Amino acid sequence: MFAAFDVDEPESFGYCNRRKGETGEFPPVFVFLLRVRWMSDIDIEKCRITHYPADVLANPAEPIEDIDDNIRRLVEKMTDIMLENKGVGLAGPQAGVGLRIFIISLDATREGVKVFINPTVTPTTNELDSIEEGCLSVPDVHTKIRRYKRCKVAATDLEGNEFTEEAEGLYAKVLQHEYDHISGMTIADRMGSAARIVNRKQLKKLKKNHKKTQLNSGA
Ligand SMILES: [Zn+2]
Repeated sequence: MFAAFDVDEPESFGYCNRRKGETGEFPPVFVFLLRVRWMSDIDIEKCRITHYPADVLANPAEPIEDIDDNIRRLVEKMTDIMLENKGVGLAGPQAGVGLRIFIISLDATREGVKVFINPTVTPTTNELDSIEEGCLSVPDVHTKIRRYKRCKVAATDLEGNEFTEEAEGLYAKVLQHEYDHISGMTIADRMGSAARIVNRKQLKKLKKNHKKTQLNSGA
């Protein structure tokens, strides 16, 4: 469920993709218009934390084409949501926005917020280890997740400057966690079968709540 958008919008993209597959080509102007409509439809004030298994968390996010006032307002709102919930990272889909953006503040302060637009995160080692992770979008679930010990991130900042960074330790783990979000994955998808059994009641509860929300919104 896209909390911040017209609920028909993601289906428009699905329709667009299906049609593209069927006809072999798709008028680029139409795609452009759809994208513009998508961006102008962001109602920042309606952004709120989304919970598993919302659709927006399960689909790969769309690239950001322009870093405009909309995106700057979105970052402000995402920062508010992250700090209010005492998180150290938040991705666009977690605020109900299916765009390739996340923020990280390892010390959970506003001053420490770093913005990653259209990021790619790639491992720089084969070594894996695991730490216990939680997620604002999968509340009351804590589980060890195996991730690469070190990784590299390439992204664009809010001023439009491209940058790359090497990361290890907690920073590397948070980068991989947030990158999962814009790839359509949460810790609920990453956890092993034993953890799934341990957390089954809470996962069931989240699915039930999601169903209730859908019914209430008429979706
Ligand atoms: Zn998360």
